[in-house]
Amino acid sequence: AVKAIQVHKAFGDLHVLKGVDMTVEPGSVTVILGPSGSGKSTLLRLINQLETLTGGEIDVDGEMIGYKYVEKNGQRVLQTLNDKEVAAQRAKLGMVFQRFNLFPHMTALENVMEAPVHVQHMGKQEAKELAIHELERVGLGERLDYYPSQLSGGQQQRVAIARALAMKPEIMLFDEPTSALDPELVGEVLNVMLGLARDGMTMIVVTHEIGFAREVADQIVFMDGGVVVEQGGPEIIDNPTEPRFKDFLQHVL
Ligand code: ATP
Ligand code: MG
Repeated sequence: AVKAIQVHKAFGDLHVLKGVDMTVEPGSVTVILGPSGSGKSTLLRLINQLETLTGGEIDVDGEMIGYKYVEKNGQRVLQTLNDKEVAAQRAKLGMVFQRFNLFPHMTALENVMEAPVHVQHMGKQEAKELAIHELERVGLGERLDYYPSQLSGGQQQRVAIARALAMKPEIMLFDEPTSALDPELVGEVLNVMLGLARDGMTMIVVTHEIGFAREVADQIVFMDGGVVVEQGGPEIIDNPTEPRFKDFLQHVL
């Protein structure tokens, strides 16, 4: 599970998150909706420790991220985790961005093998088998030896998903994974995500794809101005209560 408790984030004077609470149950899909600048990416980046918290707490699997309590002179004080501890926490999370960030000089297979070999020190043969398995899972078993430039945007994004999956994350974070794609390529990426959801992957997805949210999400979180304005089951999309959420839906639908 992922639990955000009164999460605050400021960049200098800019207070971006102003007390966000969110709980994501294991095996569930949460879709985060919200206008540009509402803090959606910042929240994902905090969960993945690409940013540090200004206030509040995030727990992953019941463990506070980034910090731990230690006993010092008879007092419980908060201590920053060291790099190794942070890496162990981050290994539970896979993240997929709007831009695919594949290595251009590596084939699909090599892209997916890269982290298992260089980060996890897995043997080449084992990593290759794993990479083939993950690429087959995203429907790219026939494209193993293609370079990113030889793949469509949708195929590149599916390689990026396979690359994240190869690290065996417990939780997948998606930040607008289809926003950079031509409309006709969006479906193939959403389908792969639907498959992951069906396989029981815990997912947090920032997207403007309302159809996907309605069909796949267990929970909808609508953010605006750095706070959660409305949250609930997917039915809230067709029955919003808060005026700001209503307004947002009218603009995206
Ligand atoms: P979008 O839908 O456009 O992706 P978002 O909801 O993901 O928007 P964020 O990217 O989280 O919004 O940004 C929220 C606010 O924080 C914006 O005003 C943004 O300019 C600001 N911000 C984000 N990252 C930084 C940073 N590293 N330094 C300064 N300001 C930042
Ligand atoms: Mg964003």
